[in-house]
Amino acid sequence: MKNKVLACLIALTMIGAGVVYAKEIKCPDCKGKKQIVVKNTPCAPCKGKGYYELTEREMMAKGTLSRKGDKCTSCNGKGKYDRKYTCTTCGGDGKIEK
Ligand SMILES: [Zn+2]
Ligand SMILES: [Zn+2]
Repeated sequence: MKNKVLACLIALTMIGAGVVYAKEIKCPDCKGKKQIVVKNTPCAPCKGKGYYELTEREMMAKGTLSRKGDKCTSCNGKGKYDRKYTCTTCGGDGKIEK
């Protein structure tokens, strides 16, 4: 009789563990990669231009009529970059509990 109860308890525990495992699924937003990459995001500091715009005063100081200033260091002059951020859906775990 005692053995039967014990076996029943073990079976229940195993079922419980199985359910917990099945609840975790791969995050659908990042597909388990833990981060999301947004390609060709316009660079914020240079507004997607790839260079910093000069102010009127800076243009005067440089003696130029071009607004084209220094190359943007954030995007290395490309104006766009691949923005990466931690997936908020799974919080960077790559999996979520259903
Ligand atoms: Zn930039
Ligand atoms: Zn995710």
